[in-house]
Amino acid sequence: MPQEQDVCPYCKGRGVKLVEIEVTGPDGKPLKRDASRPCICTLNTYVSSRHEWLTGVCDVTPEDCIEVGKKLEFSNYIFYGKEDKFLYVTKAFIVLHYHYNKTFRVLSGADVAQKYAMAQPDGVIPTVTALTDFSLVSLLCVARINNKAITPGSYEMVANRLRVKKPTWIYAPDEASLHKSVEYQSEGFSETLETLIDDFPLVDVDRWFKIPGYHELQQGKKTTKRQKANDSLANL
Ligand SMILES: [Zn+2]
Repeated sequence: MPQEQDVCPYCKGRGVKLVEIEVTGPDGKPLKRDASRPCICTLNTYVSSRHEWLTGVCDVTPEDCIEVGKKLEFSNYIFYGKEDKFLYVTKAFIVLHYHYNKTFRVLSGADVAQKYAMAQPDGVIPTVTALTDFSLVSLLCVARINNKAITPGSYEMVANRLRVKKPTWIYAPDEASLHKSVEYQSEGFSETLETLIDDFPLVDVDRWFKIPGYHELQQGKKTTKRQKANDSLANL
């Protein structure tokens, strides 16, 4: 049995919600009928399981998803502020667009280098062009240790996406951190992200707008919840 505080307030643990949809009836006239859709709790679990960076981020609320959807679109931005707040915004945006056949990636430059710009254990050498097709890519510019593939991999990914008009969200804690990150520039690579992103609008997630569902220490809270469940089992 789930602990009472873990039961989803939106679906009471069912995982789905009922909505009214319009279909075409046998006589060709519109007909209303009930249909089930995944609840926000199901979508949170689904999105967290598919995006490693979003796993420890707290669950997004339907209200925050709507708020994020009003402020942001499939467009280029540079984000500054707390990392997990940016990840919460990204998660809310992904959950909001779950039903619309969109594809997302959340990556650091190291992920780009390891997964898309370096030879894999099976000998296959992928290319960053694989990242061009996604509807939206969030690139976290947080690398401090140089690796030969991070700067050119990040540069090429953003350049390719700009060429085909696919949006990229660039994240760093602040401007100084962005400029210091290896995704942005490194010795031995003549290009910098600056030439590509200097006209991207800036969004400061800390000063931006209220997202009441965001809690910084959700990872810790989850652990506490899990601990409580374990303790109660141990006392049986
Ligand atoms: Zn639910």
